[in-house]
Amino acid sequence: MARLFIPGPTDVAEEVLAEQTRPIIGHRSEQFFQLFGSVQERLRRLFQTKHRVYVSASSGTGLWEGIVRNCAFSRMLICVGGAFGDRWAQVAESNAVAHDRASVEWGQPNLPEQVADALSAGDYDSLAIVHSETSTGIQNPIAEIAAAARGIHADILIMVDAVSSLGGIPLQTDEWGLDVVLTSSQKCLALPPGLAFAAVSDRGLERARSNANRGWYFDLLRMEKSLQANTTHTTPAVSLFFALDKQLDRILAEGLEERFARHTQLAEIAQSWAEDRFAPFAAEGYRSATVTTVKNTRKIDVLALNKFLSDTDHSIANGYGHLKDHTFRIGHMGETQPDELDELLARIDEFAQ
Ligand SMILES: *Cc1c(COP(=O)(O)O)cnc(C)c1O
Repeated sequence: MARLFIPGPTDVAEEVLAEQTRPIIGHRSEQFFQLFGSVQERLRRLFQTKHRVYVSASSGTGLWEGIVRNCAFSRMLICVGGAFGDRWAQVAESNAVAHDRASVEWGQPNLPEQVADALSAGDYDSLAIVHSETSTGIQNPIAEIAAAARGIHADILIMVDAVSSLGGIPLQTDEWGLDVVLTSSQKCLALPPGLAFAAVSDRGLERARSNANRGWYFDLLRMEKSLQANTTHTTPAVSLFFALDKQLDRILAEGLEERFARHTQLAEIAQSWAEDRFAPFAAEGYRSATVTTVKNTRKIDVLALNKFLSDTDHSIANGYGHLKDHTFRIGHMGETQPDELDELLARIDEFAQ
């Protein structure tokens, strides 16, 4: 039964949770090499890339920080339209990576023409953008933005935060020319928290090669060398790899297209409910398929609502950052089924009738 309607962490299937109780294996064993190789092959299908997908024992932010250090060392343009775009600017700032923000009002998307204009105004080596901005519920048009960016700087490194979208919203890493696509285990992939994933293109890896100051834990060259040998350069989260192995099978058995269609259906349910009872926060035409941010037009007490929902073990989320008291958020990603979302919304209606 779906319980967590917060935009991550999400519910994990029983059989996936159970995988974590398997006996630990060494990461320099034949058993692990096989596990890693087979996981890698399926991760590439999931990310729609023929290159590589690194896996780290960290949350998504850790691996993102590592990638920024490895790959973005002259000047980044960071698209900001919410809390996670803002976080990426802070990560650049705290790593002394020169950057500018291409900001839009929270609740608005970043648009291709605006990004292209901002890019032509400076000498940038990389562009960072959030796919599904989990604070505002905006889904940015990544394919169009990437195409517009390449039109300005053919060689620019395009880095996408797909933390709350990968596995729920179509994202074609190679086809769209994306160099870095990052996600975390605990959102759309419906795994326990603790792993981060990044698809990195050859261009991305070449960038890292020309950089002497990559750090150690998230050194892409070390990660690449180990990946070629079907292992990781430091001790991996072995139990989470077992869970990942099982969940990748489940995701591919459902089918990526089917999974995307289910998320579209979930979003339609959440958005039309929000239109009817409150108002969606995100601009029309750019609403995320995995999280709906709702303007709290009726000023319901979200703390009291969650207390009420806890009787059926459900929970939703407050607004994020400065939207905390003006919005609330419903996550509809991962394993959630449409009838489960209907049930949640009916419970909210009971509370807020
Ligand atoms: C949750 C989230 C993050 C942060 O991921 P962690 O795994 O908690 O580090 C970053 N970006 C987006 C869009 C998110 O939803």
